Amino acid sequence: MNRLFYEGLTEGDNNKLLLVHKSDIHNHSTKGCRRKWLEEKTGHIFADPPEIFDGLEGMQEWFTGTIKPYCPGAEGIILRWEGAFAEAKRNNISRLAMNFGVTEIDLVGGTDAFVKMISRFHQSYCPATVFEPEITYVAACDAAMEAERIDDYISSGFFKSIDVCGGEGIRPFEDFMPLYRKAERYHLTKRMHVGESGPADDIRKAVELLGLDEIHHGNNAASSDEVMKFLAMNNIQLNLCPSSNVMLGYVPGYKEHPIKILYENGVKVTINTDDLLIFDSSIENEYLRLYQAGTLSAEQLDEIRLLGLKGSTDE
Ligand SMILES: [Zn+2]
Repeated sequence: MNRLFYEGLTEGDNNKLLLVHKSDIHNHSTKGCRRKWLEEKTGHIFADPPEIFDGLEGMQEWFTGTIKPYCPGAEGIILRWEGAFAEAKRNNISRLAMNFGVTEIDLVGGTDAFVKMISRFHQSYCPATVFEPEITYVAACDAAMEAERIDDYISSGFFKSIDVCGGEGIRPFEDFMPLYRKAERYHLTKRMHVGESGPADDIRKAVELLGLDEIHHGNNAASSDEVMKFLAMNNIQLNLCPSSNVMLGYVPGYKEHPIKILYENGVKVTINTDDLLIFDSSIENEYLRLYQAGTLSAEQLDEIRLLGLKGSTDE
């Protein structure tokens, strides 16, 4: 296994872990920078978040009240995007998938202006990073209407994947079929937030109905042997986010995190940050937390790290 990675984990040395190639495949771009980076840029010291948020809504409320007033509007979004690329550089993230909402793309002047700006950040901070932009829709959106106009965003070929986020069970999965059919036509990797707070069976249902290739979160799959078997057999990867699960109260702690059960049952898993600006645990620290809690061994964590890299480096 990678020697630096092993030493970083066993010595509890974040600096060593920072130097190792890693991926971050689930990252909400507008919340993808470090709080410390944003503090330096805005000159404002943000209050610490509570240990546990009151679910997604509580998290959103905290973000709106504590962070947003100091980096508002389009300018604030652009600053936080820049910070997400600065973090990719600092943390040696060799493969980065970040999701972007259409509202934000419109807010900064539409697809062309957006692509130019994001490409500039990518090139100036981390040109060697394999960057895979993801287009994301909130679950409450009018998916049929969005499917009509998705071409405006994805026909350029900039986006590599699609996602739906912002709460589960808001609409039936069937409602999203037009959106995912369009995504398929453009050969996007099809992802969705499922099984984070919702039941394991929903994961299988969403995969079967929408043809999902990967799941963002999906931690609740661990409660069903059937679903785990289904995911393993169909090679469906779960992009897990430990600190997010713990701080949103979906998982009792790092030691109990279902990543262990999922891994042991042959389900493909990766480790990701979700909302770094909120959960305040950068990617190298997520690996360290799981190691220090005794959830997974250094060898197992290294195997997961390599899976996330997916050929983006020589490793
Ligand atoms: Zn997420």
